[in-house]
Amino acid sequence: MTTIDAQAAVAPLDFAVTRNLAAASPARVAEVLENPGFGVVFTDHMVDICWSLKGGWHRPRVQPYGPIPLDPAASVLHYGQEIFEGIKAYRHADGSIHTFRPDRNAARLQASARRLALPELPTEYFVESLRQLIAVDGRWVPSGADQSLYLRPFMFAKEAFLGVRAAQKVAYYVIASPAGAYFTGGVKPVRIWLSEKHSRAGRGGTGKAKTGGNYASSLLPQALASSKGCDQVVFLNEKNDVEELGGMNVVFVFKDGRIVTPESDSILDGITRDSLLQLAEDRGYTVERRAISIDEWREGVASGDITEVFACGTAAVVTPIGALVGEGFDEPQPIGELALSLREELTDIQYGRREDRHGWLLRLDA
Ligand SMILES: *Cc1c(COP(=O)(O)O)cnc(C)c1O
Repeated sequence: MTTIDAQAAVAPLDFAVTRNLAAASPARVAEVLENPGFGVVFTDHMVDICWSLKGGWHRPRVQPYGPIPLDPAASVLHYGQEIFEGIKAYRHADGSIHTFRPDRNAARLQASARRLALPELPTEYFVESLRQLIAVDGRWVPSGADQSLYLRPFMFAKEAFLGVRAAQKVAYYVIASPAGAYFTGGVKPVRIWLSEKHSRAGRGGTGKAKTGGNYASSLLPQALASSKGCDQVVFLNEKNDVEELGGMNVVFVFKDGRIVTPESDSILDGITRDSLLQLAEDRGYTVERRAISIDEWREGVASGDITEVFACGTAAVVTPIGALVGEGFDEPQPIGELALSLREELTDIQYGRREDRHGWLLRLDA
């Protein structure tokens, strides 16, 4: 079991629960869980906690899922002061519901908050917000293979004020959406477009924070990638080092047993990546977190030194990269077995099929 850091001791929150009287029928829930897709159907409730400069965190609520009243001058709509997280709830064979390393998501939300000048939500409140939602919407956690309930905590500036400064009124919400197997009919390698014209983040920018603006800036290059027949984009930094995809980290496997993943202050530090690399280290691989240039990637594949390249993140877990495509080249990537074998080990832990030797799981429904 994950132990939750008591940072500063915080007063427990007393959630006011308003049940959704128009909650989905059991038949409707069953129908959705049969084929949930991703991020299209939402559960019956949401959690929200207010923050103000004067009052701190207050008014914790569980309420029916629905539109958020927002003043048109709310600063999030003008200056994009927003952060979010992505974490899943997994149903085990005995029916119990667990989440994975929530302390890490809480810490990352706090780090994102610092960068976006938002208030830090204490780890206890973060975990409690997930528990509260599962307490009312636990029936939405699917039990099919590779299915989960995707939890989306987010925080934004709601103060109505057009001056540019950190908002003094902020809202934190959690919504949830059942998620099906990301790949239907087996994991498929993706084609990646090398974005040489656009970057997703710059040195000293917000690339390390999970903030909507990073995604907004990735949409145009992503559309360009699609127009070139690719599934995803890979971004470089100003030194031509590999950063990451729009929403997934990148990992390179070398034939001598080294595993290299990019490190820079503009890469989002993925919890999936960290977990997969820990499992690889447990198997005796040497993990290097360092800069890796696009030349080292292409030459490594050409010489056979690199035997596998994959992307990883909570939504898709692990995706092998099958081709690197750019202006004037289309290079097939070697497909190995490590990516899928690590994927299986990780999901076995998440779904309770294998011993959780690192204490990564936290039970949410008890
Ligand atoms: C969320 C995210 C990831 C993956 O992080 P996980 O914790 O593994 O889900 C990678 N890159 C970006 C830009 C992200 O927003």
